[in-house]
Amino acid sequence: MDPLEGRVSRTAVWTGTGIEIRDVPIPALGHRELLVRVDLATVCGSDLHTLSGRRSGPVPSVLGHEGVGQIVAAGPHAVAAVGERIVWSVTCACHDCDRCRAGRTAKCRSVTKVGHEPFTGPWPLSGTYSRYIVLPAGATIVPVPDALPDVVAAPASCATATAAAAIGVAGDLAGRRVVVCGAGMLGIAAVAMCAEAGADVSIVDVAPERAARAERFGAVADDSGPVDVALDFSGSAEAIASLVPRLDVGGHLVLAGSVAPGPAVAVDPEAIVRGWLTISGVHNYEPAHLHAAVAFLTRTVAVYPWDELVEDPVPLEALEQVARPGPALRAAVRP
Ligand SMILES: [Zn+2]
Ligand SMILES: [Zn+2]
Repeated sequence: MDPLEGRVSRTAVWTGTGIEIRDVPIPALGHRELLVRVDLATVCGSDLHTLSGRRSGPVPSVLGHEGVGQIVAAGPHAVAAVGERIVWSVTCACHDCDRCRAGRTAKCRSVTKVGHEPFTGPWPLSGTYSRYIVLPAGATIVPVPDALPDVVAAPASCATATAAAAIGVAGDLAGRRVVVCGAGMLGIAAVAMCAEAGADVSIVDVAPERAARAERFGAVADDSGPVDVALDFSGSAEAIASLVPRLDVGGHLVLAGSVAPGPAVAVDPEAIVRGWLTISGVHNYEPAHLHAAVAFLTRTVAVYPWDELVEDPVPLEALEQVARPGPALRAAVRP
């Protein structure tokens, strides 16, 4: 008999107009699937866009793509062991199509995404706002050391790993001048990573108190001067337009924040040519970036006040009330 038969997961279902708490049957696990008990989920800004109607997605669905938890059951030939404490990737890939083979598994031809799938489809328990989540074979899973508290580990699977991907595009940062735009969770993670890499890193944000907080994570005050690398996590067209003229010869602008429709930005092609400038886009991340994110947080858990960026967790029933930005950068849910 299937040991999961008859068991249910207490799960927050997004209906398009609100959140409904339901007891959802836990399915029998397929080949290499994992059942994970979610111990903590953090609320990413893109979910706030969904709840406020700025980002469209399947309805109904289980949202939430940042989380940490423990494997409680594994399908046949699963690669991980029951009992392991893990974080997992947002994107789940086939690892076999042309894009996967080219090293862009985040853009797999048959990609599925944690917290982005229809509740009525083949993967109902896909989000982290749920007591249990099912992880498909194509998910990347990374063990979490005991030294990393839940509140520090959970954002790794979106914010920290995406910051690692954006920095990976910019290349070696030692001794280079970097400006980070947007002092949210991704921007703060990027600042700390740049500082660790030996960069001279500053941060800009429309809210001065948010930018000031980044100084506790290794940023210096911004002087609006020339930079070698600009990393945008704000997604603001105005902010992006202001970064291009700051790039010195050979400079690189990496865009990672523009994940909702917005106005176009004019660029001067002559400035790109004469300045040997590069503009890159980064969306989600590769498996190596999630491993790098967990390793980075583990190295710096005692160096930076990561736990202060996440609010005290609330139960699943209170998810709708926390779906607004508070004084910390991330609300948290303990399902
Ligand atoms: Zn996210
Ligand atoms: Zn693929």
